[in-house]
Amino acid sequence: MKIVLASNNAGKLAELQTLFAPLSMTLVRQSELNIPEAAEPFKTFVENALAKARHAAQLSGLPALADDAGLCVDAFGGQPGVDTAYYATLFGYPKGDDTNVTALLEQMQGITNRRAAMVSTLVAVRSADDPEPLIAVGRVVVQITPERRGTNGFGFDPVMFLPEFGKTFAELPPEVKNANSHRGRSAQAMLVLMRERWLDSAAP
Ligand code: IMP
Repeated sequence: MKIVLASNNAGKLAELQTLFAPLSMTLVRQSELNIPEAAEPFKTFVENALAKARHAAQLSGLPALADDAGLCVDAFGGQPGVDTAYYATLFGYPKGDDTNVTALLEQMQGITNRRAAMVSTLVAVRSADDPEPLIAVGRVVVQITPERRGTNGFGFDPVMFLPEFGKTFAELPPEVKNANSHRGRSAQAMLVLMRERWLDSAAP
């Protein structure tokens, strides 16, 4: 089965391609089909992921898979959420991973509740009008460290501390991060849903 990935992120494609390999699915990036990025105007991950999946299915005529992810900080009522990628720009910094971390550490100064979750929501549709999209959420609960630790990974990894490992994501090998990350978890859950709902042809 061929399925279009509503993202142009090469890293995400590689990661998801590996995860979906057992289903004999070929993921194709939407940019390879000349599909432009969809607008993401909503306040929740699931609404944005659904909009992206429907848009890619509409323009490709193929089933589509979309991901929306971000950081939800308890002390900020779950924000920045869907605005995570642009977090630094709210405080006058240019958009980027390093400026995002700087802004987060500044905003968390003096705050004792440092619990947050990285969340990944995957949505899959068989067609643009699919009335029953598949929705899989993966989240990982972390403590935000007061300073950067480690050099692996990307984004907020240097300040995302996992109590069960005693390390930040940036201090862990990539395979350990992937096995325990929000996207690893949402992809595993999506795999189960696709097997059950799209691929199980066992007739009564
Ligand atoms: P995206 O939409 O999945 O690319 O991510 C939204 C924001 O969350 C970006 O600022 C990313 O840097 C950040 N992000 C996504 N996944 C991770 C992760 O695994 N570790 C740290 N930051 C992440």
